Amino acid sequence: MAKEIAVVGAGIVGATASYYLARAGYQVTIFDEGIGQATAAAAGIICPWLSRRRNKKWYRLVSEGAAFYRQLMSDLDSDGFPTDAYKQCGTIILGNKPGYIQEVHDRAVERRKAAPMIGTIKILAGEELKGIIPPLVPMDNALFVGGGARVDGQALTQVLLQAALSFDGCIHNEHITLSKNKEAFSVNTLNGAVSFDAVILAVGAWLPQALEPLGYTVDVRGQKGQLLVLQTDSPDAKDYPVVMPQGEIDLLPFEGGRVIVGASHENDKGYDLEPDPSILTPMLGQAIALIPSLKNADLADVRVGTRAYTSDFSPFFGTVPGLEQCYTASGLGSSGLTSGPLIGYSLAQMIQSKQTSLDEADYSTNHYITQTP
Ligand SMILES: Cc1cc2nc3c(=O)[nH]c(=O)nc-3n(C[C@H](O)[C@H](O)[C@H](O)COP(=O)(O)OP(=O)(O)OC[C@H]3O[C@@H](n4cnc5c(N)ncnc54)[C@H](O)[C@@H]3O)c2cc1C
Repeated sequence: MAKEIAVVGAGIVGATASYYLARAGYQVTIFDEGIGQATAAAAGIICPWLSRRRNKKWYRLVSEGAAFYRQLMSDLDSDGFPTDAYKQCGTIILGNKPGYIQEVHDRAVERRKAAPMIGTIKILAGEELKGIIPPLVPMDNALFVGGGARVDGQALTQVLLQAALSFDGCIHNEHITLSKNKEAFSVNTLNGAVSFDAVILAVGAWLPQALEPLGYTVDVRGQKGQLLVLQTDSPDAKDYPVVMPQGEIDLLPFEGGRVIVGASHENDKGYDLEPDPSILTPMLGQAIALIPSLKNADLADVRVGTRAYTSDFSPFFGTVPGLEQCYTASGLGSSGLTSGPLIGYSLAQMIQSKQTSLDEADYSTNHYITQTP
């Protein structure tokens, strides 16, 4: 009989793990309460190679995570599912500080040696930039990175869940709690306590709340992120690269003339999901300063989500200490759409007792999940 796996949380991590487990012949039951999900609110930039962060383990995770998208898209495609939620459209970096563009250029060239997916790296003069994104205000220079991509997190998650359900999966929209006694570790559902061969807790920023009843303390906090979805009347926008100016906002063009402006990083607002005009209005102002025609766009949506952060900003995944059949991942922060599919895939590999491409010790849960004495 196929092994039965519960996946709690259907964001990018849980949805990817569900897809690969169902694809491998496991019977997967997915639970999600659907509140505050980071994945559905996310902007969708996949371009980790230009970061100044010096943490090598983090860089390896996000760099391999960006590369993993090719495998994921190829697997979905061969299973007959759409792959248009992800597009390698390139990234444009803007910066007014003297030397900034050259500095990012040099870092990208160095990193391309180990990450060929970065592709074309080119400093653009003002006219060339205007040729790529005509509505942008004139800029002296910018950097184009061909391998940069954008992903619609919500759309990708829906496809992954659909794919998982097409194999052997089912999904329940409900809040789950966990309990443990001498005999069993159980998932408490609306239909009572159920035991599974393994459980994946892919609950993002809500991991402390999920594990606290079992006697664990988790080093994860919530960070509020807000963004604006603008509707333009420019169908060409979908072909523009992602624009990453220095500072808080980024601009992501999507199909149908949609442009995402985001995202805020609010450490003092935790799990709050209320749109806040005092944050959103200045973000819109910054976007219009770069692309003046955006002042004519309609505000189609405001999205608010909760990112998960650890105290050292590093993600983790693996088994919960002392609970061998319970796997988890959290702390993916602001690059979780980049690393999330690879982490979900790695959890699915671990359940199948297969080797992962990452060194699991580098992302150990032991540093972040402790049993309360
Ligand atoms: C505004 C914003 C912009 C972002 N932009 C980017 C970006 O450009 N690039 C990038 O790489 N990353 C970005 N991120 C980060 C990325 O979205 C997240 O790190 C990633 O999506 C986290 O995925 P996850 O699966 O771990 O968690 P989530 O997507 O948060 O999923 C967790 C799920 O668990 C469910 N859940 C929780 N508790 C329970 C329970 N007890 N029972 C049932 N269900 C439960 C929740 O409802 C939720 O659906 C952004 C995030 C935000 C908020």
